[in-house]
Formats: sequence, structure tokens, C-alpha cells
Amino acid sequence: MSHHQTLEEIQDFKGKYPRQIWYLFFSEMWERFSFYGMRGMLTYFMINQLLMEDKTANLQYGATQAFVYAFTFIGGLFADKILGFRKSLFWGGLLMITGSIILAVDPHQFFFLGISFNIIGTGFFKPNISTMVGALYKDGDARRDAGFSLFYSGINIGALLGGYFCISIGKGTMLTSMVPEGATWNVAFGLVAVVMTISLLTFVYTRNTMATIGLSPLRDASKPGNSIQASKRWYEYAVYAGGLISIPIIMKMVANPVYVDWFMYIVGPAALLWLFYEMTKHSGAEVRRLFAALLFIVFSVIFWAIFEQAGGSLTIFAANNLDNELLGFIKLDPNGVNNAANSLFVIFFAPVIGLIWIALAKKKKEPNTIVKFGLGFLFLGLAFYIFFGTRFFATMEGIASLDVFTLAYFVVTLGELCLSPIGLSAMTKLSPARLQGLMMGMWFLASAYGQYVAGLFGASIAGDVTTASNYDKLMIYTQGYKDMAIYAVIAGVILIIVAPFVRKRLMGHVH
Ligand code: GLN
Repeated sequence: MSHHQTLEEIQDFKGKYPRQIWYLFFSEMWERFSFYGMRGMLTYFMINQLLMEDKTANLQYGATQAFVYAFTFIGGLFADKILGFRKSLFWGGLLMITGSIILAVDPHQFFFLGISFNIIGTGFFKPNISTMVGALYKDGDARRDAGFSLFYSGINIGALLGGYFCISIGKGTMLTSMVPEGATWNVAFGLVAVVMTISLLTFVYTRNTMATIGLSPLRDASKPGNSIQASKRWYEYAVYAGGLISIPIIMKMVANPVYVDWFMYIVGPAALLWLFYEMTKHSGAEVRRLFAALLFIVFSVIFWAIFEQAGGSLTIFAANNLDNELLGFIKLDPNGVNNAANSLFVIFFAPVIGLIWIALAKKKKEPNTIVKFGLGFLFLGLAFYIFFGTRFFATMEGIASLDVFTLAYFVVTLGELCLSPIGLSAMTKLSPARLQGLMMGMWFLASAYGQYVAGLFGASIAGDVTTASNYDKLMIYTQGYKDMAIYAVIAGVILIIVAPFVRKRLMGHVH
């Protein structure tokens, strides 16, 4: 490979996907392996190894999730202003590797320190790799949503593998003959560090194929490469130092959930104010597009609040109220299905849906972004109605059908595929170059709020089910799902109704 493509050449790719998307695909796939591998171990480790009470462990798990996505906003902001996407990715990756090594050395003693490194690291990594995918496409290229759909499969391959292997090694149900009994958790966290290193190396070895994509806005343009002008270099060091200084602060905050509430009250409004301030520097058309992006961000909070029941109330529902037989002959743990079905469905159907978008675009029949979002909500509503419907396939003991539950997951996934990759894509189409990172960060910040609200929803359904019979639990949970189905359908209908207006008035020429 003697010739590196220019940006023009990259964006003028033939076929369905640009070649560079595969490099970002693999880098993100391994990053998500580490992220979901670690996330899958947190609650279990806190309860069984750090001997925390269930409730405390759950709250702290929620806190880590809120922080992880909240920091994407800050990571995106500094990428736009100072580091550029490449340096942000590199720095984030290094922090994540360091955090995982710390956990591998002594997870009991350094638990919150290691986790905090990972929170900050993810903030620098996650939004910015997504933004780089968008930069491979020219404005108006109809293949962009399909690219993000493909990228989304990569995310889920990583999530599925990491989620499965890490906890199994940690619990000692896998590689039992190779890993000494007392070291299973060290090895599991060590695996996270190794895999994150693979992610970072994949990026480092392929970044030179990306022309100018992701270079720092402050780089010294008179020199090749990505080094920042000497007079501005201290900005770069200040960002690195700021990241490191935040770590002990995060450690304190994650350990005390009261701070999380405060943090959530402050960071969202602060992000909005910052965005409004930035808007004053942009033209009317750009500001209108940013408002369209904001509409997507706000709706995505509702989507994730319902979707993320997966890690909360649906886990409990799966444990209490489902049989363990799929299609009458496959024996499966219902919690395993709850954890894996979504990722598996995404892996297989994300590229299919991407190709459907491309085919529809050729016939000029592709629905626009708002309608896709609306469809996402309608599928979500249907799926939660099916979760509700499990009650019609239940025994008197309150044990419902795993088949129906799995079908609901299939439909949830269709909804997710109409919204999540499309949202990533929309952030990159609707934001002006200088705000790409910030807007992607805000997109993920909405996930932080979604997770947060999901916890509140879940807790409100759970209410006082402890004394209820299993059958009553089935009734209480499924009633909750029916309510959520209604909210989702209302959101979907609103979006589809406002679609023509938003498209004409806010989105300009953007599809
Ligand atoms: N599952 C996706 C990912 O990990 C989306 C996460 C989100 O936005 N909440 O990238």
C-alpha cells in the first residue's frame, strides 16, 4: 500500500461501504468487548466479591453507567476543540487499558480506581470513533445510514463476546483447568486489558489510511502528521491532566449515589447551555439543523429509558417468570436469553436493514430520519406489548413462555435498529464540522439519562413485589410493560406527525 487515499478519494468510494469503515468496525468491536465484558462483571463482582448488598451494588452499577455516558459529552467537546478525534481515541484507549490493568492486578483493592479510569477513557473513545465513521461519507451520501448499521453489528459482536467470556472466566465456569481458582477475576479483567490493547493497536495501525479525518484542529499544518502547534501544545497537556485529575473525583462520586443525582441534574442543563452558546456562532440554517439533532437526542432519552429495562426489570422478570424452553426443544437459561438475544439479533439484522435502506434509497423510497425514529418507537411499543402479552401464555404459577419473550426481543431489536445507528448517523449529518464531537457526545449523554430514567421506571414497577406471589409478580411486571408500550407508541406517533414539518423547517436538504 504505497498510496494513501485523499479525503476526496475515501468519500468517493465505490460499492456499499468505504474500506476504512472496517478498520473502525474492528477497533470499536474490541472496545465494546472490553466495555461490555467489564460492565457484565460489575454487579456480580460487587455483590459476591466486595460483599456489598444487592441494592447498593445496583445503585453503584447505575452510577457507573450514568457517568460513562455522561463523560462522552466532555470527550466529544475536547475532541472538537483541541485533540481531534484521533488523539482522543488514543488517549481514551490508553486510559481504558490502564484501568483494566489496575483491575487485573488487584480487583478487590483497586476496584473503584480501575473503574474510574475506564469511565474517563470511554468518554474520550466512544463518541469520537462514531464520529469518524460519519466523516467517511460526503454530505448527502445515501449510504451513510447503512454504514452506521454495519458499524452497529461490530458493536454487538464485541458486546456479545465480551459479555459472555469475561463473566464466565471470572466466575470460574470457563477455562477452569487453565486459570487457578484464586486468580479468575484477575484473569477476567486481564482479558479486558488485552482486548482493549488489540482495539487500540488496530486503530494505530490503520489510522494513516484516513487522510485528514480526525486530525487535531490545532495541528501544525506546515508539518506532516498530527502534532499540535508548539504554542498550543499546553492545551493538549491540560486536557490529559484534566482527565487524570477527574479520576479520583469520579472515584468518590461513583461510590456515593447521592452525587450521581446531583451530577445528572447539572450536566444535562450545562450541556444544553453550552450548545446554545455554540449556536450563537453558527448560521440560521446550521442552528435549525442543530435543533433537529436536539429533537432526536431528547426522544432518544425516552427510547433508552424503556429499552434499558433489559438490564433491570426484565432481568428480574426473566429470573422469576419464564420457562426455559425455546421452540419446545432447546433448553436455555431465560436470563441468558435476556442478555444475549438482543445482540444476536442485531448482529444478523443490522446489515440486512442497512441494505434495505440502500435499496429503498435507489428507488427514492427511503424513509427519512424522523420517520425511521418514529418506526423505532412503534417497534419498541409493539415489543413491549408482546412482553405484556407473555401473561396470556402463562401457567397458574406465573411461568410464561420463553418463545413469546424472545419474539419480543426480536421486535425490540428492529426498533433499536431504526433508531440507534440512525441517530449516530444523524448526528454526523446534522452537525457542522466544528461541533461533530460535541453533538455525538450529547447523543450518548441522552443514553446516560435514558439509563437513569430506566432505573427509576424499573424501581417504580418493582414497588413492593417482594411479598407478592409469582403469579402476581407476572401481572405487576407485565402491566408495567403495557404502560411503557403506550408511551412508546405515543412518542412514535408524535414523531411521524411532526416529520414533514421538522424536515422542511429544520433539516434543510438533509434527508
Ligand atoms: N449498544 C450501543 C453501544 O454500545 C448503544 C449504546 C447506547 O447508545 N446506549 O454502542
